[in-house]
Amino acid sequence: MLIAANKAVSIDYTLTNDAGEVIDSSAGGAPLAYLHGAGNIIGGLEKALLGKQAGDELDVAVEPEDAYGEYSAELVATLNRSMFEGVDELEVGMQFHASGPDGGMQIVTIRELEGDDVIVDGNHPLAGQRLHFKVKVVSVRDASEEEVAHGHIHGEGGHHH
Ligand SMILES: [Zn+2]
Repeated sequence: MLIAANKAVSIDYTLTNDAGEVIDSSAGGAPLAYLHGAGNIIGGLEKALLGKQAGDELDVAVEPEDAYGEYSAELVATLNRSMFEGVDELEVGMQFHASGPDGGMQIVTIRELEGDDVIVDGNHPLAGQRLHFKVKVVSVRDASEEEVAHGHIHGEGGHHH
């Protein structure tokens, strides 16, 4: 069975950056189960998997625009420490949920602390990076109607609810 829209696909994968450092991997755990065509995985990887089948192995390099986007300096802002009341101690690397310009939630990370200034960055940690996926297709099946309706896969490697 070939990978196409509305197939439930399980993959083993290792994600590395340009420097060859492992960022994420399914090794040692269950394969990742995703619903093809539903945007469950990043666009560039989904595109590369189209038409593949169980047992296929591929190496995919995904440019930032097909992954987590280019790094945007506009998403870096300087806030006053008083906006973080209730947080005992601010530290570089801490992450907070904030409402983004489009009204959606985004995660911002503290990049720098300077006196009362807190410099936050709303870019995805992998923004601006080319990603390298080493992928093996483990299985491909038809997704159930319920899975298609939910937009994700149920069971091992997928959603449990
Ligand atoms: Zn569901």
